[in-house]
Amino acid sequence: MKPAPFDYVQPASLSEAISVLAAHGDAGKILAGGQSLVPAMNFRLARPSILIDINRLPDLSYVRPDGDRLSIGALTRHAAFHRPVVDGPLGLLLSRVVRHIAHYPIRQRGTFGGSLAHADPASEWCLVAATLGADLVVTSVRGERVIGSRDFFRGTFSTALATDELLTEIRLPALSRDWRVGFYEFSRRAGDFALGMALAALRIDNGIIKDARLGIGGVADRAIRLGQLEGRLIGGPASPDVIDAIAREARESITPTGDIHASPEYRRDLIATAVRRALVEAVA
Ligand SMILES: Cc1cc2nc3c(=O)[nH]c(=O)nc-3n(C[C@H](O)[C@H](O)[C@H](O)COP(=O)(O)OP(=O)(O)OC[C@H]3O[C@@H](n4cnc5c(N)ncnc54)[C@H](O)[C@@H]3O)c2cc1C
Repeated sequence: MKPAPFDYVQPASLSEAISVLAAHGDAGKILAGGQSLVPAMNFRLARPSILIDINRLPDLSYVRPDGDRLSIGALTRHAAFHRPVVDGPLGLLLSRVVRHIAHYPIRQRGTFGGSLAHADPASEWCLVAATLGADLVVTSVRGERVIGSRDFFRGTFSTALATDELLTEIRLPALSRDWRVGFYEFSRRAGDFALGMALAALRIDNGIIKDARLGIGGVADRAIRLGQLEGRLIGGPASPDVIDAIAREARESITPTGDIHASPEYRRDLIATAVRRALVEAVA
């Protein structure tokens, strides 16, 4: 199918973009990489009356180490992360994760901010943001506000973004060199969305876990940070027994969705495996 008729504007500045967005409210849609929006329009699942194309706003495309955080412009393409964007565990993690997002051509167009705004429950960037506790900067004619990842994701394709707000920047905590990271994803074919995935970041000192981030995705209406299990990891040894116990608890802690791709029971088992493998990779 082809999309329903729509108007198209290509603002030359951020202030113009947010003015047009404010003027059209619900009827306007931001066009970033178009890799989710355009298919949805072709299926007429989305019928915006005007597309506001932000691809002429180069100021929204950057990756900037900024003290204890990494600031990422919303329009930064997935492909920018193929190679580590910063030295250390965070750059490594992002380059490890990005290879699981769709296919190479899609990664050349799709954007970090577009993924978060779209809020697919199986989005890898949403898992990264939720697990590491990202701050999301959104801008409108009313000004700027910063939303924590915990409040930003509301459910499947649902976020705290108001209809007149543009996501402009994502701030991830810069993981210092003593953090170690692991990521595991399973999908049926390369490039498919995840049936289940897990991300682990551990700060280990003398074999003892000093700090932990653990999250899972693809199994519920949004990525889930397993805060309770992080608490159980902290202060203990990074041993195979501990990892097995945490993987079992992760399995029990969720009520996964079932669909034509996988049953809830299958996804539970998959999450136990994903958590175990992400933790093992981090420890290794
Ligand atoms: C075949 C295929 C496989 C895919 N596989 C995966 C996968 O495995 N993992 C994965 O994560 N993704 C996958 N994707 C989706 C891809 O990563 C998209 O790039 C991403 O979901 C959306 O980013 P985009 O820049 O293309 O956004 P767009 O498609 O342009 O926009 C998506 C939505 O977000 C809104 N939006 C975009 N940018 C902003 C902004 N800055 N502020 C406010 N709202 C905004 C748009 O209005 C729209 O509602 C796949 C896509 C395809 C076609």
